[in-house]
Amino acid sequence: MTQPDSTLEISWSSHEPGSGAGNDAWMQNPCLSCGACCAHFRVSFYCGEIASADGGGMVPPELVVQVGPLRAAMKGTEIGNGRCVALRGEVGSPGVHCGIYEQRPSPCREFEPWLADGTPDADCQRVRARFGLPPLPALTQDDVDPPAHAA
Ligand code: SF4
Ligand code: SF4
Repeated sequence: MTQPDSTLEISWSSHEPGSGAGNDAWMQNPCLSCGACCAHFRVSFYCGEIASADGGGMVPPELVVQVGPLRAAMKGTEIGNGRCVALRGEVGSPGVHCGIYEQRPSPCREFEPWLADGTPDADCQRVRARFGLPPLPALTQDDVDPPAHAA
């Protein structure tokens, strides 16, 4: 999380529909009508996450591009401010989703809209704002206990 703006390494939330936060569906998973991070950040990861004959990884190789000796990035995101090739739907609209959700790389599994204490993630907020999406509210203790970040 220390890279320059458009090359921050992130992803799609691992929130499952129905997990965590409150009773409102949007609060449970704002990612399902967002997708902003998948159209903004460079999503790069260790090349061992790419699916291969030895079964070492899961990310479809046709969807990645090499960006370093041992690093790959999702196509479309390698420069930053680009849309991931696996993103389906329109950013900011209901139904937007990851087309390879079960095979998405680690940064996509680790990036969350909220921190463990319920504070909205600053990078999530920033990229949502870039696409004209409203900020997320902080979660209450009831929302985060049990933890909202079920992987
Ligand atoms: S920017 Fe935040 S709310 Fe939007 S999809 Fe990414 S993690 Fe979810
Ligand atoms: S692989 Fe999926 S979760 Fe990751 S950036 Fe692309 S669309 Fe988003």
